[in-house]
Amino acid sequence: MVEAPEYMIPLCPLMQNQQSDNPKDHLDPDALAAAAPQLAAVLSGDLYCWSCKYDLTGLSVTGTCPECGTPVRATLLAIVDPQASSFAPMRWPVLSAAGLLIWSAAAFCAILVIFLLRVFDVLVSMSFLPARFAQFGVLVPILAGVSAVGALVFIRPHCAIRVSTSIRSIIAAFLYIPLVAFLWGLHARFDIVSGSPYLSDSINIEDRVEKRIVIGFLILAIALLLRSAVREYAARSVLMRTGQLTRQTLLAFAAAVVLTLLGDTLHLVSLRWPAVQSFAVTTIWMALVVIGSGMIAFGFGGMLWDSVRLYPVIRRRPRSLGEIIRKESTPRQS
Ligand SMILES: [Zn+2]
Repeated sequence: MVEAPEYMIPLCPLMQNQQSDNPKDHLDPDALAAAAPQLAAVLSGDLYCWSCKYDLTGLSVTGTCPECGTPVRATLLAIVDPQASSFAPMRWPVLSAAGLLIWSAAAFCAILVIFLLRVFDVLVSMSFLPARFAQFGVLVPILAGVSAVGALVFIRPHCAIRVSTSIRSIIAAFLYIPLVAFLWGLHARFDIVSGSPYLSDSINIEDRVEKRIVIGFLILAIALLLRSAVREYAARSVLMRTGQLTRQTLLAFAAAVVLTLLGDTLHLVSLRWPAVQSFAVTTIWMALVVIGSGMIAFGFGGMLWDSVRLYPVIRRRPRSLGEIIRKESTPRQS
């Protein structure tokens, strides 16, 4: 849960306007429903059934969706955020939402390309594909660069962001520069010149393993540095904050990166000190790298899915109950 510290609020004129003392913003739907006969609270529009997306405009909060029968209150509970008024508004909501999406989608595509390259290696070795397919490796640093551009939105998405979070995001943005350079060196040069790493002996060239370790450390540092900014985004979804939607965490992703790093380090140790080399050691480092890589792909797939789910929340900001309903004063019948 992310709350703007009190001392930051005066620095943020936009946010002050958002502070609402209106008690209806703090009512929960149940209390509202109980009061509904007198208040005749109806939905003021821009609210769609959580289950079937039917437009609920004008319906009573006590009613049910005419299309699928889901109670309107269920939709309210899913969409209305009781803490909506405590979030500082995003400065550029569409840009912030798009940046989050670009950051995760480009990174996920880069991971997919690396997996595809290994499939191409096998198909090239079986002469099903021409050797030039290895050149798709240039896509990896390019996609990482696109992801870095998306990550710029983490620096200052709203004016109540903690300074430390902004500084961490700036350092992460700078770390993308050596990351792209090393990914270029590995996937766009080394692997194209030396041939398939797993089907030739180039996997055992120390230079390649060292490049992988540097890349691993850079990704680990970026993930840990961006963590607080990404949580800032996820906290805006009431469903993610309250754990009603499972959320992929950068911490789990970082753990997967550590696994591959351990595998690569063990590999490097065995290359430098041949006495360590054995079938068991080779099996262990390969298992660590394969399992870690699988977890990285799975983790970033989840992160991309989270970004897709967060897109409408960030773009339109969390909504309070007061924004969604209007109370029509109906003459009381006696
Ligand atoms: Zn419905």
